[in-house]
Amino acid sequence: MGQQKIKAAGEYANVPIEQVYQQFKTSAAGLSHQEAAKRLTTYGQNAIQRSQRQSQFKLFIKNFTSLMAILLWVSGIIALFAGMLELAIAIWAVNLINGIFSFWQEHAAQKATDSLRQMLPAYTQVLRDGQQQRLDAVDLVPGDIFTIQAGNSVCADARLISATGLQVDESALTGESVPESKTVAYRPGDGKFAETNIVYAGTMAASGNAQAIALNTGMTTEFGQIAQLTQNQRDNVSPLQKELNHLTQQISLLAILIGVLFFLLAIFFVHYPIAKSFIFALGMIVAFIPEGLLPTVTLSLAQGVQRMAKKHALVKELSSVETLGETTVICSDKTGTLTQNQMTVNHIWLPSGEYKVTGQGYVNNGQINIGQQAYTFGQLHDLDLLSQISVLNNNTTVKAPENSGQQAKILGTPTEAALIILAEKAQLDRPALQAKLPRQQEFPFDSERKRMTTIQTVDQQPVAYVKGALDGLLAISTTILDNGQVRPLTDQDRQQILAADKRYAAAGLRSLAMAYRQLQPQTTWVQADVEQQLTFVGLTIMADPPRPEIYAAVAKCHAANIRIIMVTGDSALTAKSIACKIGITSDQARVVTGDELTNMTDADLKAALSDELIFARVAPEQKYRVVTMLQSIGEIVASTGDGVNDAPALKKADIGVAMGMTGTDVAKDAADMILTDDNFASIVAAIEEGRTVYSNIQKFLLYILNSNLPEAAPSVVFLFSRGLVPLPLTVMQILTVDLGTDMLPALGLGAEKSEPGIMAQPPRSHNAHLLNRRILLKAFGWYGLIAAILSTIGYFLTNRVNGWTMANLATGGFDYRQATTMTLATIIFCQIAAALNCRTQRSSVFRIGIFSNRKIIGGIIFEVLLLLALMYLPELQIIFNTAPLRGGEWLYLLAIPIPLLLIEEARKYWLRRRSTH
Ligand code: ATP
Repeated sequence: MGQQKIKAAGEYANVPIEQVYQQFKTSAAGLSHQEAAKRLTTYGQNAIQRSQRQSQFKLFIKNFTSLMAILLWVSGIIALFAGMLELAIAIWAVNLINGIFSFWQEHAAQKATDSLRQMLPAYTQVLRDGQQQRLDAVDLVPGDIFTIQAGNSVCADARLISATGLQVDESALTGESVPESKTVAYRPGDGKFAETNIVYAGTMAASGNAQAIALNTGMTTEFGQIAQLTQNQRDNVSPLQKELNHLTQQISLLAILIGVLFFLLAIFFVHYPIAKSFIFALGMIVAFIPEGLLPTVTLSLAQGVQRMAKKHALVKELSSVETLGETTVICSDKTGTLTQNQMTVNHIWLPSGEYKVTGQGYVNNGQINIGQQAYTFGQLHDLDLLSQISVLNNNTTVKAPENSGQQAKILGTPTEAALIILAEKAQLDRPALQAKLPRQQEFPFDSERKRMTTIQTVDQQPVAYVKGALDGLLAISTTILDNGQVRPLTDQDRQQILAADKRYAAAGLRSLAMAYRQLQPQTTWVQADVEQQLTFVGLTIMADPPRPEIYAAVAKCHAANIRIIMVTGDSALTAKSIACKIGITSDQARVVTGDELTNMTDADLKAALSDELIFARVAPEQKYRVVTMLQSIGEIVASTGDGVNDAPALKKADIGVAMGMTGTDVAKDAADMILTDDNFASIVAAIEEGRTVYSNIQKFLLYILNSNLPEAAPSVVFLFSRGLVPLPLTVMQILTVDLGTDMLPALGLGAEKSEPGIMAQPPRSHNAHLLNRRILLKAFGWYGLIAAILSTIGYFLTNRVNGWTMANLATGGFDYRQATTMTLATIIFCQIAAALNCRTQRSSVFRIGIFSNRKIIGGIIFEVLLLLALMYLPELQIIFNTAPLRGGEWLYLLAIPIPLLLIEEARKYWLRRRSTH
């Protein structure tokens, strides 16, 4: 098909389907691979191009127009007018460097989150060369024949070829949230996008399934055209960022107040000139405003998000990172999340006997029974009928592995795949059966009824084949097939069947029941009329072993005081058996079934939730209630889900977790986090990461704040001695510490690995503040106080060595510069110790490895190099009012970090000992 004028999909609605095939040079068997490749180069990828989020220029400028930046610009101007040109230039240069650094941090954070979007490909099932394929949706081209399934988004504007109960949610296009019925027959419908036989990209299949021919893809779809006009992404600010914003504003306000006070005191108390007083006050303001905080937090959150992605957990918003750290309960599905989702039918139960399924065929009492391919209904052995139901009431295809080492590819669900493999073992020829017993209608599986029915033509007679959860199926069965004979289903039969099921379930196996019903010929059937008076055939028993890594993940949750509540569609006994096996609950746990849950009052449910609990045979809609109740008793809930009906619970949960591999697009859309490996262990890894990020932010907050006191103390000494003690730390030197030497180690703290034992503590309270009393006390009353004392000692010591006395300190010249350099250098060396001390809250730094965080080591080396440059480069000496130090002073400096480190180590040791006693 050459490039032709692109017509809107709606224009193909009333064209005979053969003509559509012709126009798109395709057929019911789909395109060939070569043709598809050619079309991909002609039409481009099937993707909506996103516009740049925020212009980089705007982002850049923002960093130079913040309150702090403006203050510095103005100060530079004042310094200039006061004749202090060098100071003016230096202030501006520092401001510039700070702005560029902040911009780089924000840019890196944005890049990290943007790259996540590309990590979640959407897949679609396409017919190429007559073969079903799972394809990345971006490779879909016009003319492709593709499948639409309940819960998944429609990935192109397309015309329907076949459809079963298809309902499409077109709200993304029309705003109408009630799903529209779509059929192969054409009806124009009301308004735009209403044609019954056309589906549109960006909409979601709410139920049913269909095959369709792609008409327009990518930006030529209706959705693409609209997206082009309205592209706008939400820029969500996380509560943590909000809290920090608030915090920064409050501290800045306080800093300005202190600045004004110091300005006035300098003028009236010390009789300083106005310009000089202003610059002096500026030093105080700069010392207190935590300018690097916000970009560092954003970057730290973004880096956390990136690390989570590597551990198979994609979060959509930065805010989820912190909520993850607070999680107290995880409501988890069983199948595929806790278990491997690799189903194998290993037993068959029939009224006539039990069969063990082995590699070759069915083994009954040591005898191998290969399924006979008998098609005549009524002459079938019960076992063959069971295998027929297994393959015909089935929408899954299993592709044999290409190489011996690979696994078979499943297009559909593992449960159905297990049934196909069962039939293959019985040497059943599925295509031949499908041709001989064609399907007329289907009532798709849904997790409410927990069954699926197909109507097949058998000997020109319609027969319903039904498979589903045993309890439901037994309730609508009236007869039983026993050794080829149909007879009424007695209570004794029921008890026998349930007893068999119980035995298997107690071993953690899950059963799927099979039944059938002969129908009267008709053109279409109604589900409720068909799914009754069934003839029960038997049970297939499947094993789905727990994931091997689940045991450790569950143990980690328990150590971290995080509860796990299994909420599954599977039967009560199977659920309990698995829960006990993997250690989620003890065997004393109460199992509440979906029916019981419906009859429970909110008060009952709340009371029940305080104990060990498992929910079984629940419909996904009921998860919503469980999540709501948990939240009402103050829990922070993470909840998993994969289907359309899971969406409300996923939205309601504090952290909605969708399955990336088996989940529907609807679920992924509603979720906050997507697991690319569907694995429960990844949720636990993400929680650990969430806790780590939060504690890292507290670590650098502590680090950034602790230099405030030693930066401010010299000015206080100066003021309150009425200028008798000349400023021990000049404004430029304050700027150096605050905007120069402090930044890199702080950044390193934001990237610190999880501290040992972080998952051995209970979740932090939802109301806990980032900046708590413990941090304030440690920053000002401990780290900061020590640094202030040591630097003041350093200052006086240098004066003393130079022959000055307390009453007569150096006020200018080389000696004064040397004394201030000593104050600066002492603060920097205290900060080196602080950077290492801040790395852990309780563990020994030596245990995590003193050199294990290269960013911090790099930051420290940078600090020292900068200090050396300031001391020894004559140009910098002038600007920064510095001078070289002597051997004795260097000895003092080099000795500082050691005791500081050791004292902290002793304190941490005491903390650890206290908590173990
Ligand atoms: P979980 O909720 O933990 O993922 P689950 O897979 O058992 O577990 P559902 O998918 O809601 O939960 O399935 C519920 C029940 O429906 C299953 O236990 C099974 O008996 C039945 N079932 C599952 N898949 C099919 C299917 N394709 N056709 C018919 N019945 C099915």
